[in-house]
Amino acid sequence: MALKKLPGLIDVHVHLREPGATQKEDFYTGSRAAVKGGITFMIDMPNNPTPTISIERLDEKVELSKKGLCDIRFHFGTNGKNLDELPKAAARPEVFGLKIYCNHTTGEMLIDDPVLLQGVYSSWPVGKPILVHAEGEQLAQAITLATTHGQRLHVCHITQASEVEMVRDAKKNGLSISAGVCPHHLYMTGEARERLKGFAVMKPPLGTPEDKAALWAGLADGTIDMVETDHAPHTRAEKEQENPSFGVTGLETSFSLMWKAVQDGLITEERLIEVMYSAAKKIFNIPEQEDTYIEVDSEATWVVGEGGYETKANSSPFEGMELPGKVMTVVIRGKKVVEDGSIVG
Ligand SMILES: [Zn+2]
Repeated sequence: MALKKLPGLIDVHVHLREPGATQKEDFYTGSRAAVKGGITFMIDMPNNPTPTISIERLDEKVELSKKGLCDIRFHFGTNGKNLDELPKAAARPEVFGLKIYCNHTTGEMLIDDPVLLQGVYSSWPVGKPILVHAEGEQLAQAITLATTHGQRLHVCHITQASEVEMVRDAKKNGLSISAGVCPHHLYMTGEARERLKGFAVMKPPLGTPEDKAALWAGLADGTIDMVETDHAPHTRAEKEQENPSFGVTGLETSFSLMWKAVQDGLITEERLIEVMYSAAKKIFNIPEQEDTYIEVDSEATWVVGEGGYETKANSSPFEGMELPGKVMTVVIRGKKVVEDGSIVG
């Protein structure tokens, strides 16, 4: 066994489904999936069935999330009509950003009216990032709006080669912009749909081999700042139906997939720590978790799905894949949560 000590990992983009869709996941099961994968701090998205667009809904989530085994924080949401709530939400220590859905996705928070978008960009106090689900043209528009309003912009789950180019240019032009990439977009292309059916269905969809190559290049050269899982659990029945729900799980596999990338020479170990910890900490101004670390067996391998899952979704697009790097220990603020690879906390 070759134990390697690393910082507790951060995931700034998860959907833990509580309240409103706890048949898919809840804060407790989602946190079990997180710590199993070495993640000690994660930020939950606002697109619940009743979206997190008011302080009342935020308070409810803060309370419910206390059953989590790791730290769970929040991005606030907007439908373009809750402008009065935005400064109040931004002032809350539990809130790390504002999420805007510029393309259609799960939930009812799509904003495509330019007047509403202007209102949101001018009402969110400058400081904490605005996160966008923005593909293609919508990303170009988001970059323009962020520039006009002096906002920090985080591009969620970047997928296309042309989007990597847009972020690269925006960085060159001095915009305060960051981007996250999901392991499924790094590892899979549209071809996976044939084999995995519903388990390869998500938004944004899997790209082309050229997109995939651009994502790896962007991750290595710093254009893409971090790995975010977009952990978006659905039940197996929802994924196996004719029109599968959008989204795949990711919390239990992201570290090992990135450790594989280190072994395969796609990124360095130092870069892994940046993209799974330090960049997120800096960009989202995440407080230090005292006496928090993980230990991974860097030589062990494991097979995804063998021995089951912690996520209620009970599935992974990487099921059956043998991955290197096993999370053996997780300590959060001095308390052991994972020991010998099993959850104890
Ligand atoms: Zn998402």
